[in-house]
Amino acid sequence: MNTMNNQQKLDDIFKKLSVGYKKLNKEQIAFAIKEISRVRGDLADMLSDYAGKDGTIQKQRMSRLLRELDEVEDLIRQYGTTAMDSIIRDSAACATTGINTGLAAIGAKAVAQMERLNRDIFEYVVKRFGEDGLVLSDRVWRLSGDMRDNLSKVLRTDILKGESVSTMIANIRRVHDNETWKIKRLVVTEGNTAYRTATAMNASRSDVVTALRVHRGVANRPEHRCTQLEQLDRYGMGAGLYPPSDHEIYNMHVSCTGFLTYELDERYL
Ligand SMILES: [Zn+2]
Repeated sequence: MNTMNNQQKLDDIFKKLSVGYKKLNKEQIAFAIKEISRVRGDLADMLSDYAGKDGTIQKQRMSRLLRELDEVEDLIRQYGTTAMDSIIRDSAACATTGINTGLAAIGAKAVAQMERLNRDIFEYVVKRFGEDGLVLSDRVWRLSGDMRDNLSKVLRTDILKGESVSTMIANIRRVHDNETWKIKRLVVTEGNTAYRTATAMNASRSDVVTALRVHRGVANRPEHRCTQLEQLDRYGMGAGLYPPSDHEIYNMHVSCTGFLTYELDERYL
């Protein structure tokens, strides 16, 4: 005999979904890093075009080569944008599909018009302004700009020192490895924001949800906004409870892995 009520069953389903999402988000980080690293291939081709028979690049050709980094920066931006767009779409779909399957499993009505819902979530996430005053595309521009600056420094030094193209490629790899934490931070922040936004927007279109409950991320630091929001009773609804219209719970801080669950209307308990 299962003695859990529907609220407990749904809490259980949401917790499993959030564990599943954490796995997906790890794969998304690896995917974004791999996509953005594709630029190393483009860069290697470019360097071999500039190299002489001895495998080095003459100083006289340096300014022309560095100008070509415009194109490289553009490619990083393209790869990054395509990767982030699909990460946001997949995170939203992962949440809405899982949640509505869960609602159906406890006999509550699922939200109709899923395609439209997923599209609205995507629009919100790509257009939202973060604490940094930037939207997602600005953050991808900043990332590609930073990478270009670092590439430019490495190439300039290596050409002046007369290093071979193969050494330059190894050094470029090191630059990329040092930058991957930025890609990781972006994917964790945006992916989890898409997941929480999807949870909240799905709730606002459902008539079985009375509130969203905040669950802090694993870090559990008192200075983390998600830890504070989990304890705060902002609406007199109880600690950690929020209406879906409170956008602060969509994105509580950078790199937040906190998640939201549904408080069920008593008719469905
Ligand atoms: Zn957090």
